[in-house]
Amino acid sequence: MSEFILETENLTKYFAGFTAVDGVNLGVREGTIHALIGPNGAGKTTCFNLITKFLQPSSGTIRYAGHDITRSTPHHVARDGLVRSFQISAVFPHLTALENVRLALQRPTGLSFHFWKSSRVLERLHERAYELLSAVGLSEFTDTLAVEMPYGRKRALEIATTLALEPKVMLLDEPMAGMGHEDIARVSDLIRQVAQNRTVLMVEHNLEVVANLSDTITVLQRGQILAEGSYDEVSQNPEVREAYMGT
Ligand code: ADP
Repeated sequence: MSEFILETENLTKYFAGFTAVDGVNLGVREGTIHALIGPNGAGKTTCFNLITKFLQPSSGTIRYAGHDITRSTPHHVARDGLVRSFQISAVFPHLTALENVRLALQRPTGLSFHFWKSSRVLERLHERAYELLSAVGLSEFTDTLAVEMPYGRKRALEIATTLALEPKVMLLDEPMAGMGHEDIARVSDLIRQVAQNRTVLMVEHNLEVVANLSDTITVLQRGQILAEGSYDEVSQNPEVREAYMGT
């Protein structure tokens, strides 16, 4: 049995002759927060899309929870607990925070309309949606339309809708992008809390943002792994300093 809940071997993706991801061996340990960082164009998003099966690799393999998922589909891997965050664009702007989470809770089951009409089921759904909103610190925004929520709170809503799918491994795509210090601190706390009983893999552009948050950091550059380790390890690496921090 592998020590990793999620791992890639020689993961490679070509786009019309250009190699966006080039032989990446990534290993994510269960229960950790793992950050994939690198400058623009390093291949982070492509890696993410390959792992969550939104893109098919040109070569290489991906294993999740002991299974080869290289040829799986986004729907199947999500059902098995490998869930990427919905982007803000997937949050319905003219529904309230509560309605958004309720919809996310209903999404994966495939149960019929008649099932959801049952009042006991509706009550339970409502309770669970409240629980999730309160878990991400959004109790006071329950009845606020998503479009009217501050940016940082919308990202927390995005995390709540992802939690509704009960991820074992949660993949977050730049969850702190475009945020000020206060929101970064709040979302970092939220990610720590979420990671207490699951694994988190996050893509992030900025090394400093993940410094205090990540157990392991993988630095990508031009589609390849440049360095990997704790923040102290990667930030001391001369190649990372030169390539990424400009020192
Ligand atoms: P990052 O997320 O680190 O900024 P990306 O994974 O988005 O990097 O992109 C890596 C490289 O692959 C970039 O040079 C980008 O232009 C290229 N790329 C990404 N997606 C496509 C695509 N669908 N077709 C062609 N090139 C692409």
